[in-house]
Amino acid sequence: MEEIMKVECTCGFLMESDRIKLRERRQKDGLIKVYYVCPKCKAEHHVCYHNSETKNLQKLIRRARNTGDRAKEEEYKGKLKIALDKLNNRL
Ligand SMILES: [Zn+2]
Repeated sequence: MEEIMKVECTCGFLMESDRIKLRERRQKDGLIKVYYVCPKCKAEHHVCYHNSETKNLQKLIRRARNTGDRAKEEEYKGKLKIALDKLNNRL
């Protein structure tokens, strides 16, 4: 269960986190920018960056979940967290 949070845009519009539709855009440098758009002012809000490694880990997590392999799922989740931290902290 994911917790629903309210996110306030700079324009003052309140969005519920479960209603936010995340979008992705591949940049020229190969990074995939994850963001969402405020429905009121259309401002883009940056969430995080992904790359091919973290995208691949997400795929592996989904596959492990589908096959019910909890150990593998946890292992990949740990790897994904480290990879995302590394990727996003240096930016
Ligand atoms: Zn806004």
